[in-house]
Amino acid sequence: VGGYQPDSRPIAHYSPDGRRLSDAEARRYVADIHAVDQTLLGVVAASAPDASYRDVTEAAIAAQGWDSERAQRVREYLEHRSEEQYGAWIEDLAAHGLDDDSIDGDEVVFPDGYDVLPARLAAGLDVRLSHVVRRVRWASDGVAVTGDAGTITADAAVVTVPVGVLQSDDFEIQPALPQAVSAPLGRLRMNAFEKVFLRFPDAFWDEDVYVVRQQGPDAAWWHSWYDLTALHGTPTLLTFAAGPAAVETRTWSDERIAESVMEQLRRLYGAAIPAPSHVTVTRWQDDPFARGSYAYMTAGSVTSDHDAIAEPVGGVLHLAGEATWTDDPATVTAAMMSGHRAACRVAGRELALDRLWRE
Ligand SMILES: Cc1cc2nc3c(=O)[nH]c(=O)nc-3n(C[C@H](O)[C@H](O)[C@H](O)COP(=O)(O)OP(=O)(O)OC[C@H]3O[C@@H](n4cnc5c(N)ncnc54)[C@H](O)[C@@H]3O)c2cc1C
Repeated sequence: VGGYQPDSRPIAHYSPDGRRLSDAEARRYVADIHAVDQTLLGVVAASAPDASYRDVTEAAIAAQGWDSERAQRVREYLEHRSEEQYGAWIEDLAAHGLDDDSIDGDEVVFPDGYDVLPARLAAGLDVRLSHVVRRVRWASDGVAVTGDAGTITADAAVVTVPVGVLQSDDFEIQPALPQAVSAPLGRLRMNAFEKVFLRFPDAFWDEDVYVVRQQGPDAAWWHSWYDLTALHGTPTLLTFAAGPAAVETRTWSDERIAESVMEQLRRLYGAAIPAPSHVTVTRWQDDPFARGSYAYMTAGSVTSDHDAIAEPVGGVLHLAGEATWTDDPATVTAAMMSGHRAACRVAGRELALDRLWRE
């Protein structure tokens, strides 16, 4: 599974003026993306420490020697990849910010929500919900965690609040984190990435495709529509407000966002398409316990920053969560594996995750 895929699954590609690309045109466009990606590997590897993803993608595009129109189509694609993968504008994302952009294995969808994973792992444990933590004190002999429900002391703590909470004034760690942890943490930033689900009385889009994609300036925000109909049997499209689009539409009502998306869909499928019967927009940016969807690497950060954040503090305090796992940050896998690593460090021995899972 790759991230923002140009192919490997059926995609209906549309031109900037709303015409579906022929198979030959789509093949050439996809080949162009692969050509740039091939060049990009070397450019990223040789990039300056403070280079952005824009810097390296521009160098890789320039190396192809294309005319401006051809280059622009791939440039847009790379902007959208930065936005859809990391919820970040391409100039804000580090050159190495998409190094993890491939995952071994199949894509798995949890139609009833990811909650099944933590629910299963937490079965039988003493989990106390609605205990908002404001302060974590650490010392060589243990930790004290203070919040609405008073103070809890322990030999060790694993802190898994998101990067946005860690960086906020509402969450305090005392004494302050050592430089070896605070510096890499400071180079990450919470992103702006929201899902927009539109349900329709009838499907009007291309059949048998995984996604409908449009090129060009009109599609700067709304360019990709994923067909989720098979999951629940109701005609449903998912699109993303990602990066600048999520920042800009943050204060918009669901109706206004839906209308903006529909305007673009009508350019492709005509004025007669039905209005959505139901609209859901996530609001992760406004959730005080999330403050975004996940973290991205700002220019100047390095991939090892993720693991560095998880280095035990004073032998008693362990940061874990999606942003602390270099292999595959920004994922559920990272959240789970980093929690497992912290648990092993606290226990002082290896804990067999696969056995926990089976039991
Ligand atoms: C729109 C979207 C799409 C995504 N797509 C994918 C995908 O396709 N594949 C994938 O693998 N991952 C995906 N992710 C990322 C994945 O969901 C996250 O990486 C993962 O959930 C992070 O887990 P975590 O435990 O690190 O943090 P979280 O799940 O954010 O958990 C942090 C917990 O800390 C709690 N908390 C916060 N502040 C406090 C406080 N002060 N006191 C007490 N508790 C607090 C929060 O309530 C929350 O329960 C997506 C995320 C989003 C939002």
